[in-house]
Amino acid sequence: MRDSLTHIYNRRHFIELASQELARSARFNRPVTLLIIDIDHFKAISDTCGHLAGDAVLRDIALRIKANLRQSDILARYGGEEFILMMPETDQTQAWSGAERLRQVIAATPFDSDSAPLSVTASVGLSCWPATPDANATTSLPHINDLISKADLALYRAKHSGRNQIHAEAWFYSVGQIA
Ligand code: GH3
Ligand code: MG
Ligand code: MG
Repeated sequence: MRDSLTHIYNRRHFIELASQELARSARFNRPVTLLIIDIDHFKAISDTCGHLAGDAVLRDIALRIKANLRQSDILARYGGEEFILMMPETDQTQAWSGAERLRQVIAATPFDSDSAPLSVTASVGLSCWPATPDANATTSLPHINDLISKADLALYRAKHSGRNQIHAEAWFYSVGQIA
């Protein structure tokens, strides 16, 4: 269930828990937000400072993220230097502030390493369900993969707009960047 490096959930367990949460949210027409957090230029960090230093940064990032979550949030390591997070009962505006806080806790304080402190930033893609609080606007039940691909799309835009920023993709229509 857990990732051996960071000890947060692994992708498989995340999908299980997040799917249940999404089904619950859809049933009760409650908002839920999914975020993908991808470390910027992490290959350069790992290549320059070494794999072990990179591993230590990943562990520290997981700790910083965890320290800034609510108990009901579901956090996992999605892949190499990517984290995935589901925030139940959270609409896009609330999720945006949460994502901004996470962006800042990563960017604001450099990470310890054997050599000089390492400045690290992250980009965030987020997608919310439902896009509007109006129950009539929803026509079909969401699947976790849909939320993930929308967050991925938003992340792609965050990367291509210069990194160290948040972009959002709504459920049925694109709302673009709201900050
Ligand atoms: P971008 O800003 O576009 O996300 O660039 P990036 O370098 O972060 O992304 P890319 O996907 O090119 O490279 C990810 C790198 O992360 C590849 C590898 O060097 C590093 N990495 C992935 N998993 C681990 C890990 O478990 N430990 C360490 N030390 N490095 C890892
Ligand atoms: Mg990546
Ligand atoms: Mg990256």
